[in-house]
Amino acid sequence: MIKTHILGYPRIGNNRELKKALEAFWKKDINLKTLEKIGKKIREKNWITQYKTGLSYVNVGDFSYYDQVLNITAMIGAIPKRFNIRENSMINITTLFKMARGCTSKGKPISACEMTKYFDTNYHYIVPELEIHNKFFISNHTIFNEVKDCQKLGLNPKVVLMGPITYLWLAKSYINKLNFLPSLINIYSKILKKLEKQNVEWVQIDEPVLVVELPKLWKDSFEIAYKKLSKTIKKLKIMIATYFGGLGKNIDLVLSLPIHNIHIDIIRTPKNDLELILNKFPTDKLLSIGIINGRNIWKSNLKDILNKATKINNIIKTRMWISSSCSLMHIPISLSKEKKINRTILNWLSFARQKLDEIVILSKLLTSYSVGENEIKYIQDNTKAIESRKLCNIVSSHSVKERIKQLTNNYLQRNHSYYTRKKIQQKQIKLPLFPTTTIGSFPQTNTIRLARRTLKLGKINIEAYEQIMRYQILFITAKQNFYDLDMFVHGEPERNDMVEYFGENLNGFVFTTNGWVQSYGSRCVKPPIIYGDIKRNKPITVRWIKYAQNNSFKPVKGMLTGPVTILQWSFERDDQPKETTCKQIALALRDEVKDLEQSGIKAIQIDEPALREGLPLKKKDYKYYLNWAISCFKIASSIVSDETQIHTHMCYSQFNDIIAYISEMDADVITIETARSNMALLKAFKAFEYKNEIGPGIYDIHTTNIPSVNYMIYLIKKAAKSISIDRIWINPDCGLKTRKWDEVDYSLKNMVKAAYKLRIYLNKN
Ligand code: GLN
Ligand code: ZN
Repeated sequence: MIKTHILGYPRIGNNRELKKALEAFWKKDINLKTLEKIGKKIREKNWITQYKTGLSYVNVGDFSYYDQVLNITAMIGAIPKRFNIRENSMINITTLFKMARGCTSKGKPISACEMTKYFDTNYHYIVPELEIHNKFFISNHTIFNEVKDCQKLGLNPKVVLMGPITYLWLAKSYINKLNFLPSLINIYSKILKKLEKQNVEWVQIDEPVLVVELPKLWKDSFEIAYKKLSKTIKKLKIMIATYFGGLGKNIDLVLSLPIHNIHIDIIRTPKNDLELILNKFPTDKLLSIGIINGRNIWKSNLKDILNKATKINNIIKTRMWISSSCSLMHIPISLSKEKKINRTILNWLSFARQKLDEIVILSKLLTSYSVGENEIKYIQDNTKAIESRKLCNIVSSHSVKERIKQLTNNYLQRNHSYYTRKKIQQKQIKLPLFPTTTIGSFPQTNTIRLARRTLKLGKINIEAYEQIMRYQILFITAKQNFYDLDMFVHGEPERNDMVEYFGENLNGFVFTTNGWVQSYGSRCVKPPIIYGDIKRNKPITVRWIKYAQNNSFKPVKGMLTGPVTILQWSFERDDQPKETTCKQIALALRDEVKDLEQSGIKAIQIDEPALREGLPLKKKDYKYYLNWAISCFKIASSIVSDETQIHTHMCYSQFNDIIAYISEMDADVITIETARSNMALLKAFKAFEYKNEIGPGIYDIHTTNIPSVNYMIYLIKKAAKSISIDRIWINPDCGLKTRKWDEVDYSLKNMVKAAYKLRIYLNKN
């Protein structure tokens, strides 16, 4: 029988039990015991699900109360000094939460560890901070206890651990991180020995860093580490799990490591790489093929996959295992609660629970003697679903396809260069020096949420709902008058989420009711699913923006979510290239931009906070991605005449390596988040001699703190060292959606005052 397993299962629980329990615990509504009970229940349920589906192994170690990288930090005792943990003391959940969320000690705040995106996913991990004083020791026994629990149920655990090299790669330190390698290997050896004593047969060590281009020193570290680790164990077997890409230049390295099993991501391994691997694959190792997509929500084309797997099996013979391409934590748990999705589309989908079935069926089909009626029926249904998706007329739109074909370079150019446009726009919009504005959203109050909820429940009709939203816009307009901002926004009260809102108003999107995916800690997101060609039937934002403009004396900025961000924060199609989908969104937005302009809107902002997030993991692929991503922004934005000012907004990302592309977007104004990093991000713009206007954020919207006038003046003066003052805008870091009105009142009043003061100061000097 071909062995089956997965790299990990979602840990939030079928009904987001973990989220609810965590938040209740933080609010002190439940105690630690209850939280741990809920955690244990989720783990057991996941094990039993994996077992009952027929997987050969169940995973222990893929559960975490916050984050799997933080789990390792807690297990090896790498706690930053500021948390005041006594040397050699055991690390419990409370300390783990302190690191993830920050805390106070004797009234003084201790800042949380940084959080950043895990490779190219939307999952955020807690960045380990390695300090010279760190002496690693086994400081938490969670993993060993979980193994015991699993064995007690009579199940066969495969233990999942984040690998030492990937852990180091993801960590930050003031000294060379590789200095920590010897002591890290030492502690991993101890952990493996302990697992061996517990009679664990397999440990899956996640080393996704093997899919990025590695410097030589890091490659050497792999050899050193795994040679040492393999020497310390006798019976225990190691599988190295690589995912989110092909091995590229690391193929030889991986094949030579002294381990028992190599897992590769077949979904993302290029054909040539796969052939190379199969040709050279060592006879003393097992190969786990990640052939069921763990990053997407589509049913696998089982006939195709069976063909592919058969070919690999013919070469690898009895040494092949079948698995998901990566952990299933990046997709929703189950389709069982999706009652509202159109039946036809529902039949094309497969979430984590359904992917388990696909894996098991595939293994049965590969060993024909275990194929029974059920399996035959399953594959027949699968084939039907795949065919229905290919042929279904709700997927494909002739007119959309024609429009894509007609795209030429003319779609990518504004009429004149920024210099010419600037002069024309100045006459049109008449803004003072240091124009003040915001990024779009204003506080999402209970009134707004209540209106949305009652509309959903059918307790109010759409007219009543829209009346409430218009009232909100008037209120937000009055507030902006009171602050005396120079360029207004409508405030986005009608938007639940910046991507979902556009998805709901475009053809080609479908929404789940329970399709939650963990983003970090207790935060979950519910990405829309793009199933078909994207088309705009009628204007989406125009009447709201126009309403705001008709009620303002100042120019109102139209507010749109950009094509790359809409694509990036949705589940994408797997039946056409990403860039084709993105171009379709861009064309729909282009029409919206045109309509906004025609209705008299003078400035339009197209947000692209997810632009950088879409960067491929291998540097060699950057250019290809950035070219189509930037083109899509330009397709959406460049339809306007010179008079219309195009803004864009990006936040919480590094710009250094992509600044040339940002410049190519040719937005008249870019607003970015810089308050948090104390203007450090501006260096990239200065070094590049970026030419257009910039609004460096001077209000960190992630805190409850009110920035003082003087502090904001200090930040602007600092910014003026990198950007000439005639190109500086004044604005917060990002949208104000999560803030309270009184915070916004004080902060924006101060922000405008800072601009006044600077204008007076400059007049005098
Ligand atoms: N316009 C959006 C807002 O203000 C931008 C949000 C974002 O950058 N994530 O909410
Ligand atoms: Zn932002």
